[in-house]
Amino acid sequence: MVSNSERQTIAIVGGTFDPVHFGHLRLSEELAEALHCYSNKLSVRLMVVSQPPHRSQPVVAANKRAEMVKLAISDSETLEVDEREINRDGVSFSYLSIEELAAEYPDARLIWVLGDDAFEGLDKWRNWQAICKAVSFIVVARPGARRHRLNAEVGKVLTESTSIEQLMEKSFGSFFRYSGPNLDISSTQIRELLQQKRSCRFLLPDSVIEYIQQYRLYEN
Ligand code: ATP
Repeated sequence: MVSNSERQTIAIVGGTFDPVHFGHLRLSEELAEALHCYSNKLSVRLMVVSQPPHRSQPVVAANKRAEMVKLAISDSETLEVDEREINRDGVSFSYLSIEELAAEYPDARLIWVLGDDAFEGLDKWRNWQAICKAVSFIVVARPGARRHRLNAEVGKVLTESTSIEQLMEKSFGSFFRYSGPNLDISSTQIRELLQQKRSCRFLLPDSVIEYIQQYRLYEN
């Protein structure tokens, strides 16, 4: 039998990454470090959402957002990009990605990383109860944002873990609140700076800034 630490763990940081920034990257890096203590076979994947079902549509095409993520993590040995939602047509429902991952990696523990605000609306996601039977969640607080309360419907289905260690003991159906890196950066802020032709240096990798300049993204 595979011991807990030898069991494969796949953590998915889903996002529009429009564009990717140091908040996303630092969050992913910290989680990779923390989860690695409990799993020797770990991958942390930045999953680029093509057509998000629950928010406004991204400004830049999905393939270019994925290119920016690839540039941002090109030197990283721990982080990977996951393009399955780009390669699939239609709205990027998370349950479809989770079904695919569960079929591809039947023995893996799946961890879905999402913001506190998205977690609060989890019961509006298509097939959310099936999702809760397939993954556990790491719920990330955004610096400066108000802390959302646990949605009552979600609270009936998921149990709270008070540490990553506890979360890693469970195969699915639990959530852990992670305070996240204290980097108050958002893609919205970067898009606004770029529209105003202002500098966004030190908010995202230089390689991504160069790509944005090369393709004249977010100019209007
Ligand atoms: P936008 O401003 O366009 O809404 P965003 O900066 O919130 O974008 P997303 O691509 O929507 O970025 O976020 C992807 C994931 O990264 C989400 O789980 C989100 O909560 C998390 N995240 C984004 N920015 C930060 C940050 N500064 N610190 C911690 N987590 C973050």
